[in-house]
Amino acid sequence: MDKRTVLITGGSRGIGAMTARFAARQGYDVCLSYRERADAAEAVCREVEEAGRKALAVQADMAVEADIVRLWEEAIGKFASIDMLVNNAGVLERQAPLIDFDAARLERVFRVNVIGAMLCAREAVRHMSKSSGGRGGVIVNVSSIAARLGSPGEYVDYAASKGAIDTLTIGLAKEVAAEGIRVVGVRPGSIYTEIHASGGEPDRVDRVAKRTPLQRGGQPEEIAKAILWLASEEAAFVTGTLLDVTGGL
Ligand code: NAP
Repeated sequence: MDKRTVLITGGSRGIGAMTARFAARQGYDVCLSYRERADAAEAVCREVEEAGRKALAVQADMAVEADIVRLWEEAIGKFASIDMLVNNAGVLERQAPLIDFDAARLERVFRVNVIGAMLCAREAVRHMSKSSGGRGGVIVNVSSIAARLGSPGEYVDYAASKGAIDTLTIGLAKEVAAEGIRVVGVRPGSIYTEIHASGGEPDRVDRVAKRTPLQRGGQPEEIAKAILWLASEEAAFVTGTLLDVTGGL
């Protein structure tokens, strides 16, 4: 492909920001979305531009369908074609057992992690499908090893939302393969980012590292590299696959 462009949701921080940096180094132009941290998003854009690629940051709440549609309109308006979606934006709430959950919490988690990701995938399929004039592409869904482990006592809601993402990956991969679109998933283990502060335990990765076979937490770049490999031509025969990057959990 002559020119490649990636759209990364939640690209202002953590795994999404690192994926933007690595994608730029591999020659991708980058559109990244964020919810509220405009300064962080613009800083990532500057790094992409310093790597010689084009960048665009779009404020878009993944809990709002109109924002997701506008995100795609702005991305296509600037770059004309998007070759890869990294469905990365995700949230978790404070650690608690299920008996303490209420509907409002569950709606917040599922609206961003599941409904937002599915709507963003919908926009990607509409844009990439060869039968609609698109040129195919790759959707990489960022799930979590929580989908397999369940996160008891911490956030089974978050874990269940990631289980939904895994099922989306398997089903959508079959649904759109003939359209030239691959759909894959990455399931990170415990990675050093700010997401753990939302759960009320900023140092959670260090605690979990002790029971990880490789005896350490992961770095965002280790997930970014897995995402970009799955999206690359080297993985051209890979679709519907969930890749665990967990240190053995
Ligand atoms: P993070 O450091 O907390 O960053 C979250 C990113 O998502 C930020 O860019 C944030 O934007 C954006 N975001 C959050 N809510 C949003 C919304 N409603 N609309 C749009 N953007 C939103 O998270 P991370 O650790 O990098 O996690 C990235 C993905 O990896 C998530 O799907 C997460 O579930 C998954 N994951 C993480 C781990 C881990 O240990 N870190 C493990 C397994 C899976 P703002 O900067 O504007 O707030």
